[in-house]
Amino acid sequence: MKIICVGRNYVDHIKELSNDKPTDPVIFIKPDTALLDASQAFYYPAFSTDVHYELELVFRVAKVGKNIQAEFAHKYIDAVGLGIDFTARDIQSRLKDKGLPWEKAKAFNGSAFVSTLRPLTESDFTNSIDFELLKNNVSVQKGDSDLMIWNICELIADISQYFTLKTGDYIFTGTPAGVGPVQKGDQLTGLLQGNKLFELAIK
Ligand code: ZN
Repeated sequence: MKIICVGRNYVDHIKELSNDKPTDPVIFIKPDTALLDASQAFYYPAFSTDVHYELELVFRVAKVGKNIQAEFAHKYIDAVGLGIDFTARDIQSRLKDKGLPWEKAKAFNGSAFVSTLRPLTESDFTNSIDFELLKNNVSVQKGDSDLMIWNICELIADISQYFTLKTGDYIFTGTPAGVGPVQKGDQLTGLLQGNKLFELAIK
């Protein structure tokens, strides 16, 4: 199982980090050891003092595929939920400055939280999916699949040219504006279309 992540997929978030709009999706991968499931807490890593949350829509891969065309991509995913792409922003900034890979900042143990998922329906591909993050019961981040530069089917078409999708893989689709730090003792709550999907303690 692997976790495929997309960077810079919302126009607002690109402005926030003053990045250029890319011509094709920025893709990175987290190993299976990065996965944090809904029964666990997030333990703040000792190597960072600036861990940020990035709330993202997450899709689960339902069957093996490569070189998938966008028009058939919906057949390769079966569930949607929320994820947090935990990012050690201090380490990422240092790595970016040197032009080095991001893994230490993005792919560390527990850096890929995935909520419980719900089955996809046909309307998920025609209507937008909105989502929201609360930190200590205060709204800090809101997103909507409408605001993605590349939708999930376009992402699958791009990703599967390079990486074979396997059953059980997760695709993180990028974060909207509003990323920010977490501290020990924080409580994160995720809402998908107004329904509470997870609570996660930062320890
Ligand atoms: Zn992200």
